[in-house]
Amino acid sequence: MRNLKELVRPNILKLSPYSSARDDFKGDASIWLDANENPFGELNRYPDPYQRELKKILAKYNDLKTTQLFVGNGSDEVIDLLFRLFVKPGADKALTFSPTYGMYRVSADINDAQLIEVPLNNEFQIDLNETIPYLDDPNLKLIFICSPNNPTGNLLRNEDIEELLGRFDGIVVIDEAYIDFADAPSWNKRLEEFDNLIVTQTFSKARGLAAARLGIAFANPSIIEFLNKLKPPYNVSTLNQAAGYRSMKNQREFELQIERIKLERSKLIDELKSISIVKRIFPTDANFTLVEIENATDIYLQLTQKGIVVRDRSKLIPNTLRISIGTTTENNLLLNELKQLAS
Ligand code: PMP
Repeated sequence: MRNLKELVRPNILKLSPYSSARDDFKGDASIWLDANENPFGELNRYPDPYQRELKKILAKYNDLKTTQLFVGNGSDEVIDLLFRLFVKPGADKALTFSPTYGMYRVSADINDAQLIEVPLNNEFQIDLNETIPYLDDPNLKLIFICSPNNPTGNLLRNEDIEELLGRFDGIVVIDEAYIDFADAPSWNKRLEEFDNLIVTQTFSKARGLAAARLGIAFANPSIIEFLNKLKPPYNVSTLNQAAGYRSMKNQREFELQIERIKLERSKLIDELKSISIVKRIFPTDANFTLVEIENATDIYLQLTQKGIVVRDRSKLIPNTLRISIGTTTENNLLLNELKQLAS
């Protein structure tokens, strides 16, 4: 990796971050008159700005140090902060592999960054020959790799990711929002090997806490320090930190839910295969499946009229619907409607 100081935006290098009341005084006390809080009520105190309890349990679970962890208000906040940390508006670039998660494009646009979109190949894998020529551009700062990829559902090959991590002297972000549904270890096990690696995960999928808005970045401590300087002081609420902590304490429930969702996924895929209008089911390592279907947009509209909402991804990949795995009842209702539409 290039020296981190060459990658970080010059204004961020110079930034003196906001120092909150909880930064200025960190010890124990019984009378808190420093943050203009209301002395009455249950949620009257600001949250821990660094989510220490949550990070301790996350660090233990992932076999990492708390200094290698950042917690954001959803991983969408993390994506935006990474643009703000590394990408100079109007000058720098980021790169993604399309089709992929739409927020990389939105964050790039918000931050006035050029986004290079390299198409995935026919198997929805990275095309290294197409990608390598971009890597020497000194203005290319960030590469986003979504694995398992949204909306295609598949994991991206380790060999290709390794090659990019080794060749590129900027930052490689691996978005693992769906990793818990895949039979593959997290790339966060390899942080020591690649100092340009940032791995993001979320509590919104396998942990069932989309409402709580909790995202994680795993990276080397010098990158984490910059993210801490950049973030809004109290970016994760006390309620949400507690929800994340409870989920980490309840591993059994988490594991059971993943098993159920994976079982439902294979049942749904088996049933979909027998429906005539379903032309192709793409292999998935996530809690959704991408399906090629005759007249997908029509089918999508007809399903909505029955109160069933899937995601029409036809603009990204012709005639495709992305179906999230629901409960047995929900999946069966969907299958019944699809069978009727096919007959
Ligand atoms: N990354 C990917 C690949 C996603 O699909 C999503 C949510 N759809 C996110 C990140 C955002 O997750 P969060 O709820 O943590 O902001």
